[in-house]
Amino acid sequence: LNEKFQNIFSQLKRKGKLNEKDIQAASREIKLALLEADVNFKVVKQFTKNISERAIGQEVMNSLTPGQQFIKIVNDEMTTLLGGEIERMDFIDGRRNVYMMVGLQGAGKTTTAGKVANLLRKEKKFKPLLVACDVYRPAAIKQLEILGEELNIDVYSEHDIKDPVGIAKRGLKKAEDGHYDLVIFDTAGRLQIDEALMEELVKIKETILPTEILLTVDAMTGQESVNVANEFNRLLDITGVILTKLDGDTRGGAALSITFTTGKSIKYIGTGEKLADIELFYPDRMASRILGMGDVLSFIDKAQSMMDEESSRKLEEKIRNQEFDLNDFLEQIKQIESMGSMNSLLEMIPGASKKALKNVDLSGADTKRTEAIILSMTGEERHKPGIINASRRKRIASGSGTKVADVNRLLKGFEQSRKMMKQMSNPNLAKKGRMKLP
Ligand code: GDP
Ligand code: MG
Repeated sequence: LNEKFQNIFSQLKRKGKLNEKDIQAASREIKLALLEADVNFKVVKQFTKNISERAIGQEVMNSLTPGQQFIKIVNDEMTTLLGGEIERMDFIDGRRNVYMMVGLQGAGKTTTAGKVANLLRKEKKFKPLLVACDVYRPAAIKQLEILGEELNIDVYSEHDIKDPVGIAKRGLKKAEDGHYDLVIFDTAGRLQIDEALMEELVKIKETILPTEILLTVDAMTGQESVNVANEFNRLLDITGVILTKLDGDTRGGAALSITFTTGKSIKYIGTGEKLADIELFYPDRMASRILGMGDVLSFIDKAQSMMDEESSRKLEEKIRNQEFDLNDFLEQIKQIESMGSMNSLLEMIPGASKKALKNVDLSGADTKRTEAIILSMTGEERHKPGIINASRRKRIASGSGTKVADVNRLLKGFEQSRKMMKQMSNPNLAKKGRMKLP
């Protein structure tokens, strides 16, 4: 999918102004690509309709860079579909926050209950209580207890009675008596939607009157997640979604389908098995993820606002003519510093593979050292790093108060960057979707 989109975009990028036919063709490609990514067809239809309508209007036609404008429209539309702004949990001041986790078996309810309790204890200084309402598998109660122990969070559970509604009621009572201000009810799941279970969940809901009903969905379930989300929403009127297992290379097509069909927003995403692996859901980032563009749009935005056209034109020329030297490198690093670390910036470029970046370590803390090293070089050395031999390295290291290894690493990183920039500015490679440096 990733490659597909990059092809579509790079084709558009190389065109001048776009006409209606171009846009229709591009929309059709996007439609196919989304369907392939397991996004629900109704969602795909609406989505492509929206972007075509917007793209066919003046916005693109009169824009100076139609290709970029089109990318922006696709991304904006997807961000809107995903909920637009970040949706935080509804925290109700002066009232107990009562969360109910629901979802299919294995979706990640229990794990996520722990993650959320842990996160909000830290961020909001809440005193959380976990309540074990999944009574069907003895291991489920144990699982929550172990989690509580690990996190040092109290758990309310009953081992001898299989009465989830009763447990919920008594769990809430304990929360009141113990002045817990966040109670999270972990509930049972099934492999499929099941009427008896739904009835039980409705009863629990009526008993605890939750302030949030959080549907936990496994991002890897794709198409099926739409039906599941719809059913849970219809019967329980959920307040939000938590999408789990978005680690690895899960593309997140489910996010688009779920928010579209339920109209409920995703609040958090689970990104791993560890208890710290939970993040706020950012619609714009998810849109980029689904589109396989990395954070390319924010990269363009940032880079454009940071560098004026003149200097970027000069830079491009230097890269093309292979004149990019350590002076330019230093200048870039300084510019980039205010945009975030070099690493994260480079990671935003889709064509920049992790492998190529392995030796480019220029994280924020390193910037000062990098600067010191480069400033300790002579003008000639900066311009022709090839001449920096072992004895020069030693001199530079002692001059900058660093180690020879640091100098080596910097030079290696510089070489890698130079190679990468050359690749990215090469029009033949650009066809493969690599972005030109601004
Ligand atoms: P439940 O049946 O809905 O309560 O699901 P569990 O919380 O027991 O989770 C099922 C499995 O998914 C466990 O092995 C979890 O460790 C795993 N899991 C949950 N969330 C995530 C996540 O965000 N990423 C990954 N990789 N695994 C997860
Ligand atoms: Mg569970």
